[in-house]
Amino acid sequence: MKNLKIAIQKSGRLNEKSVLLLKNCGLKFDNYKSSLITTVSNFSLEILFLRDDDIPGYVESGIADLGIVGENVIDESEAKVHYVQRLGFGKCTLKLAVAKDSTMKDLKDLNGKSIATSYPTILGNFLKENQIQADIHEISGSVEIAPGLGLSDAICDIVSTGGTLKSNGLKPFADVRNSEAILISRPELETDPILCELLQRIQSVLRAQE
Ligand code: ATP
Ligand code: ZN
Repeated sequence: MKNLKIAIQKSGRLNEKSVLLLKNCGLKFDNYKSSLITTVSNFSLEILFLRDDDIPGYVESGIADLGIVGENVIDESEAKVHYVQRLGFGKCTLKLAVAKDSTMKDLKDLNGKSIATSYPTILGNFLKENQIQADIHEISGSVEIAPGLGLSDAICDIVSTGGTLKSNGLKPFADVRNSEAILISRPELETDPILCELLQRIQSVLRAQE
């Protein structure tokens, strides 16, 4: 049987838990940080280590068959992939935040304001759904400093504990979406026997964690 390829994050918040999940499924592989691809010795699978932002596109185009990535990244990429299984880690919320002394109360107070974010697609859809017209300033990182620098009135960014918001003089304003890590596949792979076997193992690991 031809090996499937699964793409996971090379380093960052999802790397360790993705590796652990696969190991808990009984898969044996070397986790060399320097090699970008590794073969599982006891299962028909190869593991690709990538930047998380690249994973949805690799799976959509078929370069990888499967991927583990945050829902926020999949939504932002708008890649057409099949959602196989939520994985229960990497939980976070994409939130709007404003300066802690801001008087904005309601979503509609964002009308005419500017919002800095690394998630222009998700934010754009959210604003459209809520019929709000605001300027989106796309920046690739350190979004929390934008209001303090006068670059924007609000931000939209991933928050897990809120500590970064607080230390930058911001307060949460509204939730845009929740996210967790998810197993995705190429759409046409749904009934693949290797995927079915891997999914069964993943589901039994998840059940044991409940
Ligand atoms: P890469 O180098 O792979 O592009 P990155 O810097 O974009 O990594 P990380 O910070 O490692 O990404 O976050 C990966 C994912 O972890 C996020 O997309 C999100 O789904 C999830 N996550 C969970 N908690 C947090 C958090 N507090 N901040 C940011 N991301 C979080
Ligand atoms: Zn990334």
